[in-house]
Amino acid sequence: MRKILFTLFLGLIGWSAIAQTTINRNPAIEKLVLEVSADSLKKYIYDLSAFNTRHTLSTDEKNGMPSSQRYVLSKFNIFAKASNGRMTAEIEEFVIPADGRRITSDSKVANVIATLKGTNPADNRIFIVSGHLDSRNKDVMDSTGGAPGANDDGSGVAAVIELARVMAKMEFSATILFVAFTGEEQGLKGATYLADKAKSEGWNIAGVLNNDIVGNSNSSETNISDNTKLRVFSETIPLAEDEQQAALRRSTNADNDSKSRQLARYIKEVGELYVDQMEIKLIYRSDRFLRGGDQTPFFRNGFTAVRMSEMNENFYHQHENVRVENGIQYGDLPEFMDFEYLRKVSAVNLAAAASLANSAGMPEEVKIDVRGLSNKSILLWKAPSIGKAKGYYVLMRETSSPMWEKKFFTTETTLTLPYSKDNYFFAVQSVTETGEESLAVFPVPISR
Ligand SMILES: [Zn+2]
Repeated sequence: MRKILFTLFLGLIGWSAIAQTTINRNPAIEKLVLEVSADSLKKYIYDLSAFNTRHTLSTDEKNGMPSSQRYVLSKFNIFAKASNGRMTAEIEEFVIPADGRRITSDSKVANVIATLKGTNPADNRIFIVSGHLDSRNKDVMDSTGGAPGANDDGSGVAAVIELARVMAKMEFSATILFVAFTGEEQGLKGATYLADKAKSEGWNIAGVLNNDIVGNSNSSETNISDNTKLRVFSETIPLAEDEQQAALRRSTNADNDSKSRQLARYIKEVGELYVDQMEIKLIYRSDRFLRGGDQTPFFRNGFTAVRMSEMNENFYHQHENVRVENGIQYGDLPEFMDFEYLRKVSAVNLAAAASLANSAGMPEEVKIDVRGLSNKSILLWKAPSIGKAKGYYVLMRETSSPMWEKKFFTTETTLTLPYSKDNYFFAVQSVTETGEESLAVFPVPISR
């Protein structure tokens, strides 16, 4: 009996040591997170789904896509008043050429974008929070029939609008774009336009948080009701990887350490830190099985991006015409949404975007020294050229672990750890005085 009790006691000590997680929030970000409102989100969703359709090719000026774009712009312009001139908004028009698929003739379309300019002129980073404004019904070419698109992707756009509202009055080092894309359902047209433009103009896009289908918490068929989980999709093998990068990835076994995956881990860490009753699930896919989204054109151009989607999708309310059949209500209607869930998803976005936009840049030239056989691991790096780091975390995890498990703080730009690089993965991130962390950088080996 005594032995059993003793074992139980040891077990409890072990359990409590592992179970402790330090909650150390930056009060400024916590305050913003608390301002995200389920009522505001609900209002945007009802407004957006009241337009007859937001189909990409809809030209109905009164009740179609152009009017919904003016609605989003008007919201951005109202919030911009609180930004002291830092937020500007526009409907950016462009022409998508006929593609013989979902675009039958050259079409004038538009993204709606609010830009919150960063306060540090030396910080050229741009972070993007996005959703797609276009909606569809069963027939993807039907540009006049009803398509309320409350959840797909009214939810993502509502999150974007709410973040613009809350963040406009706060100052950030980096620039943040709030984007309502067009043309997602017609082949990722709006996101492709912006990602290609950013690439050709050399923008420093440091992270894209794309939100698509983020406002429902009840699954069709399996009838799972759960508003405590959010999926973050990130690419495993980078779409833009060249032969040299592929060779480096294979030699360092960095298959689970793409820039996109580091962003997903970051969102899990920061999102769960600031948002209660929310568990973030890393999905090791660039999107749902055989699907794609507006993050894809950013992957294609080598940018760091993720897609966020609700955990339990309801296919009665996606890409369906509004109708009742066999007693089931079909159609993407707002009454099937969970606004408290959407509030939490928006709050996760806000916590991540605010932390990133006020972080210092990533440490540069991050290397792991493999010049001699050793059971120690030596990491070295250079200070970021953007912002001011108070210090750095060297992150460590077992090779079989999805998340970083240990963080070693240092104010130096090198650290030697008595753990073998054969048995662990490492990365380095910068951290500011107020605790904002940069994305983690996976080291490149120096062999001589
Ligand atoms: Zn969608």
